[in-house]
Amino acid sequence: MRGAVIHAPGDVRFETLDDPRILKPTDAIIRTAVTCVCGSDLWPYRGAEPTDGAHPMGHEYVGFVEEVGSEVTAVRPGQFVVGSFATSCNACANCRNGYQSGCLHREFMSTCQAEYVRIPNAQGTLVATDGVPDEAFWPGLLAVSDVLGTGWWAADAAEVRPGATAVVVGDGAVGLCGVIAAKEFGAERIIAMSRHEPRQKLALEFGATDIVTERGDEGVARLKELTGGICVDSVLECVGTAQAMQQALRSARPGGNVGFVGVPHEVALDGQELFFSHVGLRGGPAPVRRYLPDLVARVLSRSIDPGKVFDLTLPLEQVAEGYRAMDERRAIKTLLKP
Ligand SMILES: [Zn+2]
Ligand SMILES: [Zn+2]
Repeated sequence: MRGAVIHAPGDVRFETLDDPRILKPTDAIIRTAVTCVCGSDLWPYRGAEPTDGAHPMGHEYVGFVEEVGSEVTAVRPGQFVVGSFATSCNACANCRNGYQSGCLHREFMSTCQAEYVRIPNAQGTLVATDGVPDEAFWPGLLAVSDVLGTGWWAADAAEVRPGATAVVVGDGAVGLCGVIAAKEFGAERIIAMSRHEPRQKLALEFGATDIVTERGDEGVARLKELTGGICVDSVLECVGTAQAMQQALRSARPGGNVGFVGVPHEVALDGQELFFSHVGLRGGPAPVRRYLPDLVARVLSRSIDPGKVFDLTLPLEQVAEGYRAMDERRAIKTLLKP
């Protein structure tokens, strides 16, 4: 089969790879329906994360079950399945507590920009749809496997409540999906921080009520103006830089909550500032599996359309261009079709 391999920063190639095989009785093999490039794939692509040797890429997927290991009974060959970037048994104590992305058997997906993919912990990870959904739903279901699930977790971790004010820091696909989540959670006012016109438009389409273009102290000052001087109830931090995290902490009112879902890079918190802020903080890799059945149903019933975050579709063999377009911010998110 063929798939994407990163060799060095800026160097992603489409290559012939070994076909994945069942390695454990808990594995399944899927044939990729559609996959994509994630904002977090840009960290190694930009050299912000070390790349030790060439390795495959990709952690988002929907596909058709090809083969299952002897212990996998929840899905069968031919079914269309959605999963998560973090695989989970869905049976251990952490899974039962709703933190499947902290599963005791967790393995992160990392080979999904390919024609076929091995899914560890398939029994607990994969959710099959009733029949094969129309192709028009595939981008939305693909979004569920990471960016929507992560935006949903950001809203959940930030404890967005009906009638609340929420601000979303970050206008990538996760931030935009965070807007969808905040709306579905019932936030009355949703402020999207974005300077990029096409992303502002999509945020408004997804339910944002206000756009703030200022950053840093000016951004916080603007939020205060919009909220009667106190800042917001819930902050969804969807970037992961030190600047974004500081922005997020200072955007929450005393007693407010920050959900941080951007993978932190060089983020350090000031204990004194945190102490006096009265702000609640929860983050981490999203327990997408907890939300999967609900989110799949919302997409298939057309109540939400997170597939709109894909504004570039390419054949899988042009994966390198997909990375370039996102790196240069010509695209929000690239959909790849095998
Ligand atoms: Zn991702
Ligand atoms: Zn588990």
